Amino acid sequence: MRRAPGRLVLIGHPVAHSLSPALQNAALRHAQLPIVYETIDVPPHALESAVQRLVASRAGGNVTIPHKTAMAPHCGRLDVIAQRVNAVYTFRIADDDVLEGTNTDVGGFDALAREVGALRAGARVALLGAGGSAAAVLAAVERWSGASVTLFNRTRTRAAALAERFPVVETVAATADEAVRNATVVVNATSLGLRAADSFPVAIDSLPPGTAVLDLVYRPRETAWVKAARDRGHLAADGLCMLLEQGALAFEWWFGIAAPRDVMRQALSSAMQS
Ligand code: NAP
Repeated sequence: MRRAPGRLVLIGHPVAHSLSPALQNAALRHAQLPIVYETIDVPPHALESAVQRLVASRAGGNVTIPHKTAMAPHCGRLDVIAQRVNAVYTFRIADDDVLEGTNTDVGGFDALAREVGALRAGARVALLGAGGSAAAVLAAVERWSGASVTLFNRTRTRAAALAERFPVVETVAATADEAVRNATVVVNATSLGLRAADSFPVAIDSLPPGTAVLDLVYRPRETAWVKAARDRGHLAADGLCMLLEQGALAFEWWFGIAAPRDVMRQALSSAMQS
């Protein structure tokens, strides 16, 4: 049996508003594990010294913006998913004292796709966005049988660079409307929708009938884009399910026991209402 982490932390900048402590602390209490999950605000210039302290205290934990990519070279071992995405979301100290990284966003996205019935062979995915979470989406979709992706991003050079890394991307579209034209699944991996005043990542009128709509963004209630898609008859879900599942997968990777998903879902729901 592997040794459990000595402590659990989320490092990022900023981290104060993260829902991960509510999610993980509910799971830790339920499993009667005597550890508290804490947040540590780590500005970019302080990442290296923070990692040294985490290793010394045998910490496990999560990494969020802006450190997901920067954390990868600090890890002595990356699993195949973290290598593929080139970003670390979850880390632990292995029994041989090596800092190990994985990326639970990939499994989290698969769970979101499964929830709306979008994880199907031959899916034609329109992916909007080309940041870190878009890479995690591509690492998931490239394992779906017969799937293909059309990618659109505001900054086209970023989309082209991502397409180079992921052959599952068949086309880099010039507009969001063009990207969704023949899609069976549309994924928003931009940050549009975080603010109430944001425009939609793509107009609902542009979505082909029957297209499943997946939004990585989540808000206290479902995003306006997901609501509008649902009102128009599309199967649609926001990123809450992905947030829950990446947390559950991390818990299982740290402790080797099943995560109490119902308890975590309840904690998330309470934290979003407060
Ligand atoms: P990121 O690496 O910073 O990428 C941001 C993406 O959004 C880029 O493609 C960027 O385009 C695009 N974007 C930002 N503002 C835009 C605007 N005004 N118009 C059009 N495009 C815009 O961020 P990320 O880590 O990929 O995260 C993206 C979103 O996913 C965030 O909202 C995050 O909360 C969410 N997320 C959710 C989960 C979950 O568990 N549900 C997990 C990970 C991420 P440019 O390249 O042109 O700047």
